[in-house]
Amino acid sequence: MNRKKILTSIMAFIFACNLIAGCQSKENEPSVPVMGTNIEDVTDAKTDITTEAAKVTQPEETTVTETVTDSTTAEEAPETQPEIHTQPETEPPVPPEPETEPETQPAPPPVTEADNNGNGSGPADYVSTTSKGYKIERIDGITYVDGIMMASKTYTLPASYDPGIRPEAYNAYLEMKNAAAQDGITLWIVSGYRSYYDQEIVYAGWVNRDGRDVADTYSSRPGHSDHQTGYTFDLNSLEQSFANTAEGKWLAAHCAEYGFIIRYPDGKERYTGYIYEPWHVRYIGVEKAKKITESGLSLEEYYGITSDYADSEDN
Ligand SMILES: [Zn+2]
Repeated sequence: MNRKKILTSIMAFIFACNLIAGCQSKENEPSVPVMGTNIEDVTDAKTDITTEAAKVTQPEETTVTETVTDSTTAEEAPETQPEIHTQPETEPPVPPEPETEPETQPAPPPVTEADNNGNGSGPADYVSTTSKGYKIERIDGITYVDGIMMASKTYTLPASYDPGIRPEAYNAYLEMKNAAAQDGITLWIVSGYRSYYDQEIVYAGWVNRDGRDVADTYSSRPGHSDHQTGYTFDLNSLEQSFANTAEGKWLAAHCAEYGFIIRYPDGKERYTGYIYEPWHVRYIGVEKAKKITESGLSLEEYYGITSDYADSEDN
């Protein structure tokens, strides 16, 4: 019977322990979540603090980073921007290089122009002399005789040559006009500068009206016009009767004093290639204008050059 008592008491003890254990576990279960929540809250709080801390710190870091980035871009920029010429103020040392490069680069264009001109009108630059020993230079497709830019039936200007009216020629004209006014003579410009393409239209119009052979006696083919030099004016009237007017006579008598010549004088068609044009004056400077005018020769005769189209033998 002792055994039974012992077993029973043991059983009772175990049972009691289970009960107690059950109570403990029940108490423990709810407490765990509570504890967890608390921990999480604390953690959240920490996170908030950390975040805030991060917020506080980040601005500084960001600013630093931006500053660094800026300085980086600023340093990189000079390499790209030299061409833009905007940054000289930021870093003086760098700009000097870009400025030097542009100067070096512009050099190529002249070569290109020379090529274009070469394509338009024959041989490369050269120097020779006229039949009377005056120097002929050919520079970038343009011919100069004794330093005078030539445009005639023999000598052409490139189609791309588009100088506009020459200030020195226009100023000389104004001076002449004022002087004429003091003598009671009124001068005005009927036609001044004409580009290659302007002349193309003008010449085509005359050819259409009179045919090419006749048009060639008074109108230039494109690239051959004296007006394309920018040194030429047609004054007052495009009638040959202009020569007999007070204005025409004054012009013939005084234009050389202002650097102009009557480019196509009376009776010189065989040399100049054009009929008498008492209205057409060409600026070549006072000294040369006086010499040629006093010689009584056309410009072609004076220098010993021709004015013939390459196909003139066909006509
Ligand atoms: Zn003219």
